[in-house]
Amino acid sequence: MNAVSIHITGIVQGVGFRPWVWKTATELGLTGSVQNNFDGVRIELFGDSAPFLEKLENDPPPLARIDCISVSEIEGETPRDFTIRLSEDCGEALQRISPDIAICGDCRRELFDSTDRRFRYPFINCVNCGPRFSIIENLPYDRPQTSMRDFELCSECRSEYKNPANRRYHAQPVCCPECGPKIEPENWEKIWLDSMAQGKIVAVKGIGGFHLACDALNPDAVKKLRKRKGRESKPFALMVPDLEWVKTVCEVSAEEEKLLLSRERPIVLLKILKEVGTVRRIVRGAFVESTLSLEEIAPGLNTLGVMLPYSPMHEIMFDLFPHPAVMTSANYSTEPMIHTNEKARKKLGEIADVFITHNRGIINRCDDPVCAVHGTQTIVIRPGRGIAPVSMPIDSDACVLAFGADMKNTFALAHHGQVTLHPYIGDLENPETQAILEQAIQRELGCFKLTPDLIVHDLHPDYFSTRIAQTFAQKLRVKSRAVQHHHAHLVGTFSEKAVGFSFDGTGYGTDGTIWGGEVLLYDSTDFKRAFYLRPFALPGGEMAVKNPQRVAVSLMRQIDEASLRRFERDEGVASTLKLLESGINCPMTSSMGRLFDAVSCLLGICETPTFDGEAAMRLEAAADETECGDLAFSIQGGQIDWRPMIRDLIDEMEQGVSAPVLAARFHNTLAEIVYCCGAALAKKQGRIPWVFSGGVFQNRLLVERIENVADGEFELVFSTYPTDSGIALGQAVIGAEKWVSK
Ligand code: ZN
Ligand code: ZN
Ligand code: FE
Repeated sequence: MNAVSIHITGIVQGVGFRPWVWKTATELGLTGSVQNNFDGVRIELFGDSAPFLEKLENDPPPLARIDCISVSEIEGETPRDFTIRLSEDCGEALQRISPDIAICGDCRRELFDSTDRRFRYPFINCVNCGPRFSIIENLPYDRPQTSMRDFELCSECRSEYKNPANRRYHAQPVCCPECGPKIEPENWEKIWLDSMAQGKIVAVKGIGGFHLACDALNPDAVKKLRKRKGRESKPFALMVPDLEWVKTVCEVSAEEEKLLLSRERPIVLLKILKEVGTVRRIVRGAFVESTLSLEEIAPGLNTLGVMLPYSPMHEIMFDLFPHPAVMTSANYSTEPMIHTNEKARKKLGEIADVFITHNRGIINRCDDPVCAVHGTQTIVIRPGRGIAPVSMPIDSDACVLAFGADMKNTFALAHHGQVTLHPYIGDLENPETQAILEQAIQRELGCFKLTPDLIVHDLHPDYFSTRIAQTFAQKLRVKSRAVQHHHAHLVGTFSEKAVGFSFDGTGYGTDGTIWGGEVLLYDSTDFKRAFYLRPFALPGGEMAVKNPQRVAVSLMRQIDEASLRRFERDEGVASTLKLLESGINCPMTSSMGRLFDAVSCLLGICETPTFDGEAAMRLEAAADETECGDLAFSIQGGQIDWRPMIRDLIDEMEQGVSAPVLAARFHNTLAEIVYCCGAALAKKQGRIPWVFSGGVFQNRLLVERIENVADGEFELVFSTYPTDSGIALGQAVIGAEKWVSK
């Protein structure tokens, strides 16, 4: 009789791995044992282990991520049965916190099975699905350490929890209508249905916080929500009943379909169809054909953020009311999402007509994640519920805490050979958000009982994140180091030697100016600024972000005074020129994001953006994708000179070339600039990969154009986390590899 010991590492604890092993081994007639240990799961198998290993490789438990399987022969007496042994006592160092997981197929079937005891129970879950991160207060992940501790298991749930053959074996949040959480008010289903039909705005408590919801087919309701929330034109995300719905409004590729249906259930940014289909709508019990009022939902954009129901409560909501609904995080502009019943009542009274809440506490708030698909690659624009916390292996065992950037902040913690990115926290200019960052970090360090070897923050001396990091470093008596923003963007994407294109709105440079159009030759410990966008002044500093005309004037002034004549009569132009002449509060920048803003403004596409990135998004949306032409540019002494490009743009505009054509030529020209910079460096450096990160690379058209000019010839690596939410990843890796000795 042969016997083997199998050791598996990866995400294998708290994901139903042991019961899966028990069930599989028992079915194959094998005996032995399975046990969690320090860095994974150890299995001892007696009998023919080949079919077991085959199943492990081809059909592992759905939530597991297997990094490594090692098998060795062992000797010993053959046991009589297969047992699940207690975990080796090894501390909790290697546990990872799982993100919340969308309802699984099995639970969904039970939810709508009238004979099941959890029929239409909005908190149904199992070992493969349900809340995790949002309810965890401490580790190890056990019910008393979660907000489910308030609900004592009934005898039926308890026996399911204890039975290794049951799919709720050791599912910590297991519950049922007898013993589990409840929705308030009790007749919520009717209230939801009536409110939607009457165009009301409903505050709904979900998994990671409250949403504000209304019927997306009712333009008056959407308008009302915009007005009450004080949100001018920032697009709203939709939750739709099913895929069929999505396809009447958006183009959906196979990859996008997979992402929409994935257990992360993110908001996916999809391209809106040229001709949006009509959709069926129920009015007083009868179906009526109607169209989605996109001008209210995503004004001026060619993409729409869509997600499918992800919690059992959503499943019931959309079973009752099979319409698309606006589902937007419940907050006022820059404030964090509301997640407690008390706060919702206090703060949402002016926005919501109706409240639907429940009594399962949300310990860790968590916004919905936002993703997009570029070709075959998924990019994460906001790492929220379902996606984060997300861990990836790194080449160091150091414990490093990285504080990220101020915009779209989140932090990362590296320890025991992995770095974990925490879910999106928000913009730190809001003091409440700063407090949330501090609490979240304290909770995470507490969970793992860790003190970092090193704290890392952005190079910007005035960032809130920098100050908070330094305070933490003092309190914990830990050394701290600063990392340049664009270097962090790139190392978070690819940490070996490469040519990096780090294009974004703003980041503090080593020379004290604002960077943002950077081509760096870099590795995980150092970088050289090889090329950069020719610097220009930002009249009024950060104010220029909200007013692209100021940037446009600044660019034109560098070309020649004659170009300015177009603006002659404008008062704003005169005051901007005065500001530029005085030089007061006109910091210099090489920002690619601001160049996009200025071009969008010059072409008359977006002159007054109301949210971050709007001018660039509209420029991309406006571009005529069939256009292949380009504009002039020059590269000299490391400087990418945009002046010939802007001059060309204005000349052509005056000759009557349309804005969509010129918007496309602008994108095409940037792709050529990328190629020229990369090829120049390749001459000296050889064929090292080209890496792309920074907020600008959310732009799908730009990515496509770069692939067109350079793919096949060079290896292109586009960031999965291109926004500033990915900064902490790069900071942590640089911290571990540069400053902590191995
Ligand atoms: Zn389930
Ligand atoms: Zn129960
Ligand atoms: Fe950035």
